[in-house]
Amino acid sequence: MRVRKGPAMNEVTAKRIAEFIAPLRVRPGAKVKLGKDFDPRYKADFLKKKDGRELLRTGISLLAEYQRRLAAQNSHGVLMCLQALDAGGKDGTIRHVMSGVNPQGVQVHNFKVPSTEELDHDYLWRYACRLPERGEIGIFNRSHYEEVLVVRVHPEHLVRQKLPPEAKGKDVWERRYREINDWERYLTDNGFHVVKLFLNLSKEEQRIRFLKRIDVPDRNWKFSAADVREREYWDDYQVAFSEMLSGTSTSWAPWYVIPADRKWFARICAAAIMVHTLIDIDPQYPTVSAEARADLLDVRKRLEKEAPKGAAADPYEKKIAAHKRAG
Ligand code: AMP
Ligand code: MG
Repeated sequence: MRVRKGPAMNEVTAKRIAEFIAPLRVRPGAKVKLGKDFDPRYKADFLKKKDGRELLRTGISLLAEYQRRLAAQNSHGVLMCLQALDAGGKDGTIRHVMSGVNPQGVQVHNFKVPSTEELDHDYLWRYACRLPERGEIGIFNRSHYEEVLVVRVHPEHLVRQKLPPEAKGKDVWERRYREINDWERYLTDNGFHVVKLFLNLSKEEQRIRFLKRIDVPDRNWKFSAADVREREYWDDYQVAFSEMLSGTSTSWAPWYVIPADRKWFARICAAAIMVHTLIDIDPQYPTVSAEARADLLDVRKRLEKEAPKGAAADPYEKKIAAHKRAG
């Protein structure tokens, strides 16, 4: 489906998408308690899994069309940050949601335990190096938020960062929230929208997905014993996520908490939030000035004259006219 420019379609769709994602957004300044405020099994009442497939397809084609415009306009970029616990569905979300977009306009980066070179820099350096260009969608599969999640839950990571004493006091997490907020504000002010998605999985659903990774041989590669060890820190992570959501959901870059126990619903949510962002940017194909247009028409005349005997002077003219008649 192509996005028609008609205001009716856009306004109605835009409003429906905005309403659909509103309950997922973390209100800036809200004090979040994950277990109490967000249900991993939530889904919108009006949605059934079988309708979900159609809706996801629509979302994907909307994304594809908007991404073409984003690239053509070449003034804004979008950074999507995906965070989740193991088996939360990050990889699948990226695969599905971005399946329709031109690979030339998208970059995906995965962040693992930092290298020695990365540890020799400030903690945001490696993320800054991988930001999208204007006209691009960048995806961080894990992101700078690991710096207040895994690094917080496992303080030995902070030790490895070789910070000077004044930079690792008790207020280190509050300070990092502020620094991250400032950095994202800087990016937003300069045309880069930051979209933050947290795939919120329940502990029981994680257990089931781990078992699937063990039981299905083709999935064994996805499982590591370290994932089960990490699961033992579940409660610490819930606290770290809650404080991260409370400290870094801002008016310029709010967090969205996506219920992740149903993969199909999580994917629709992720697509809807991305489309919402692009509607907000509203990128347009550039139009050329009257002067440049006149030059183009001149060139057309010359090309038409070069048509070999028997060939149409401009085969496109007819096609475009037919297309216009068809509306
Ligand atoms: P995976 O996503 O399964 O490939 O695992 C990547 C691992 O790298 C996860 O265990 C993350 O917690 C870890 N990781 C990512 N970023 C950082 C970081 N900044 N410091 C320490 N560990 C990290
Ligand atoms: Mg893993």
